[in-house]
Amino acid sequence: MFTTAVINKFKSTPTPFYYYDLDVLKQTLQKVKSESSKYNFIVHYALKANANNEVLEIVRANGIGADCVSGNEVKKAVECKFGRSHIVFAGVGKSDEEINYALDSDIFCFNCESKEELEIINGLANAKNKTASIALRINPNVNANTHKYITTGLEENKFGINLWELDDVVKLLETLSNIKLIGLHFHIGSQITDMSSFKSLCLRVNEIQGWFVSHKIHIENVNVGGGLGVDYHDPDNHMIPDFETYFKLFHDFLELRPGQKVHFELGRAIVAQCGTLVSKVLYIKKGVNTNFAILDAGMTELMRPALYQAYHKIENLTAIADEKWEKENGSESSFMQKYDVVGPICESSDCFGKAVNLPETSRGDIVVLRTAGAYGEVMSNGYNLRDKVKAVYS
Ligand SMILES: *Cc1c(COP(=O)(O)O)cnc(C)c1O
Repeated sequence: MFTTAVINKFKSTPTPFYYYDLDVLKQTLQKVKSESSKYNFIVHYALKANANNEVLEIVRANGIGADCVSGNEVKKAVECKFGRSHIVFAGVGKSDEEINYALDSDIFCFNCESKEELEIINGLANAKNKTASIALRINPNVNANTHKYITTGLEENKFGINLWELDDVVKLLETLSNIKLIGLHFHIGSQITDMSSFKSLCLRVNEIQGWFVSHKIHIENVNVGGGLGVDYHDPDNHMIPDFETYFKLFHDFLELRPGQKVHFELGRAIVAQCGTLVSKVLYIKKGVNTNFAILDAGMTELMRPALYQAYHKIENLTAIADEKWEKENGSESSFMQKYDVVGPICESSDCFGKAVNLPETSRGDIVVLRTAGAYGEVMSNGYNLRDKVKAVYS
């Protein structure tokens, strides 16, 4: 829901752009803090969801750590003054340069995804006379029941160390003197709305912990990753994800050993709802079945629909505002029509939605894509030599 003042701001600002409602972000972070602190859980923010400076500054100010998946994200986290002892670094393909940078930055933990990687980190740490703290990213073989492109915790996925490799990994660790095992790490996927997936994860983590106990290996930190989903269909009624149920579930089902700390890495759930992609209608083009509403924003600004058929709620704010005015002044409200809402990019997949119900839409109307704060601006690109997308803030 946008106020008239915000809609007027959209009308007077050159499109397309991302709009961030920083109050929504702050309220979301407060809820994350209040619910996680009930159980002394430690929360990291996954920078890859949105690395906009303004957003990062607010996240950091709320005392949340940084979860990075590239050397440049580690650099960004250091530059934004996330405490070095609160930076974790995951990823299946860490380059030597990235590992060296993270070693020099004295980050909290590398989340390691293979035996091969453990050997390389050990060698690079040895050359610097350092000890790298690592967590083993274990593939728990738990189905996240989400889109196949954002499922990461199944054996067939490229991520993590598989359960049957644990014996070998533990033997290898005994020979690596510049590595210290400080934890276990899991991340089963993204946009998870079925809470039973997280329960399955907890039960699997308990089993895996049992294995480590039976091998007399002490685990200080358990990192259960991120993945909590958001409501793309009804953002106005679910602006803040259900962190209460989410954190309580881990409290109820994880069996912790004395002194163990639990870490989370949330991305989407923190930033998705505060962001909106704002565009203008360039043309209404007659089609065979439905007309096309051609926007000045496309897959170059918001790639999720083209990349994994993601849904974003689409609204015509000009029509909504006019309708309010008409209602208040007693005239007929406009009728709904179906449009294929598309961008200007030369790809057929540059489509935000097919047969979308919108009030009668015209050239110049402000059309927004909701819930675009996560995996939106960060994935924007210059294909077709498009300008870099701008951001404005509440
Ligand atoms: C992407 C990612 C996250 C964040 O996922 P969300 O679904 O945005 O919460 C957390 N941890 C790791 C290792 C990731 O790759």
